[in-house]
Amino acid sequence: MSPWGAELWRLAGALAAGAAGGLAVGRPWFGLWMTTMALLAWHLWRGALFQRWLARGSGRLAREPGGLWGELYDRVLALRRRQQQRKRLLTAYLSRFRELTDALPDGAVVVRRDGGEIQWFNEAARRLLGLRSQDLGQRLNNLVRHPAFLDRFRAAEPGGSATFPAPVDGRRLLEATVVPYGTDLALVVFRDVTRIHRLERMRRDFVANISHELKTPITVLAGYLETLAEGDGTCARRWGGPLEQMREQVERMQRIVEDLLLLSRLETDPSPPSEREVDVPALVRELVEEARALSGGRHAFSVEIQEGLHLRGSAAELRSAFANLLTNAVRYTPAGGRIRVRWRADGRRACFEVEDTGPGIPAHHLPRLTERFYRVDAGRSRDTGGTGLGLAIVKHVLERHGARLEIWSEPGKGSRFACCFPCQEG
Ligand code: ADP
Repeated sequence: MSPWGAELWRLAGALAAGAAGGLAVGRPWFGLWMTTMALLAWHLWRGALFQRWLARGSGRLAREPGGLWGELYDRVLALRRRQQQRKRLLTAYLSRFRELTDALPDGAVVVRRDGGEIQWFNEAARRLLGLRSQDLGQRLNNLVRHPAFLDRFRAAEPGGSATFPAPVDGRRLLEATVVPYGTDLALVVFRDVTRIHRLERMRRDFVANISHELKTPITVLAGYLETLAEGDGTCARRWGGPLEQMREQVERMQRIVEDLLLLSRLETDPSPPSEREVDVPALVRELVEEARALSGGRHAFSVEIQEGLHLRGSAAELRSAFANLLTNAVRYTPAGGRIRVRWRADGRRACFEVEDTGPGIPAHHLPRLTERFYRVDAGRSRDTGGTGLGLAIVKHVLERHGARLEIWSEPGKGSRFACCFPCQEG
C-alpha cells in the first residue's frame, strides 16, 4: 500500500476510535474533535522534528517513523546520499586534476582576459615564476614584467609566443604562450626552453664554425685549380675536362659556404636591420637588369614598379632576398617563359612579387620550401647551380623586417613568390 493510503487508513481508524469513545460517554462530536486536535498536534510535532532535522543538515533520527513522515525522511536521505556520492566523485576528479596539473612540467596560469588577474596556477608556475598563493587575484603582468612577455600578453591573440629570462633565475629561458578560452579567461603556458635554446645555439655555432673553417681550404683549392686550368702546359691539355668539373664543384662549395655564413649571420645577429631608408624601386630595377643578364634573352620580362615606395631596413639583406627569388625564376623557368616582377602597395602592405610560367611546385612541397636544403627536384637544383639555401635566406631576411613570404604555385602553370611588408608609418 502507498504511504498515502496507509496514512488515510490510519486517520480514518483514529477518527472512528475517537467517535466511538465519544459515543460511549454520549458525546460523539466531542470525541471526534479531541481526536482531530490530537492528530493535528502529532503532525505539527513531527513537522517540527522534520524541520529541525533538515536544518541540522546531517544525522539520523533516533526512531524513524513509518507512514508518510517516514517516507519523507527516506526520500530526503536518499537524495542526500546521492548528493554525497556526487560530491565524493567530484572531489576525486578535482584531486586527480590537481595531481595532473602539478605533474605537468610546464607552468600554467589562468588569468582574466581583460585585467590579467590570476585565477589559478599550477606547481610548475610556482617554481618557474616564483608565484605564491597570495598572488592569486594579482595581475600577472605586474609580476612578470619582461617587455617581450608584456607585448605577447597584451596582444592576447592565439598562437605566437615570447621567449624571455625566467624571473626567478635569469639563466633559464621561458617561452610563454597565451591561449584565450571561455568568455573572459586565458591560459598562459610557460615552457622552460633553456635546453632547446642551448642546443639551437650549439647547432648554429657548429654550422658557422664549420663554414668558416671550410672557407680558406676551398679558396686555396679554387686558386690552384684556376692556375692549373689557365696554364698552357701538358697538365691543362691532358686534364682540361676533369679540371673544369673540379672548378665547378669547388665553386658550388664556395656558394654553399657563403650562403651558410650569411644564414648564420642572419640568425645570430641580434640587431634589427638598420633603420636606413631603402630605395626599393631603384634596387628592383637593378636586380631585374641582373636577372635579364642571367636569362640571356631566354625569358620575356615584364616589370611594374610603384615609384617612391621606399622601405626602412637593410638594403644588403633585401637585395639578397629579392635576388634569390629572381634568380630562382630564371633558373627554373624554361626558355620562352615569362617572368613578371612587381613592387606595389595596397594601403595595408607593400609586396615584391616574382611570378613565372615555370614548372610550378606540387602543393605538398610548399610548406617545406623554406627549409634548408629542401629541394623539389634535387638534380635540377644542382644542375642550375642552386645551393638549396636561397628560400631559407629569403625567409630569415623577411622575418627580420617583420615581413612574410607568400607562395602560390600550380604544377604546369607557374609560381608566384611575394615578399609582403606591413606598411610602415612615417
Ligand atoms: P635552390 O638553390 O635549390 O633553388 P631554394 O631554397 O632557392 O634552393 O629553393 C628551394 C626549392 O624550391 C628549389 O630546389 C626548387 O625545387 C623550388 N623552387 C624555388 N623557386 C622555384 C620556382 N620559381 N619555380 C619552381 N620551383 C622553384
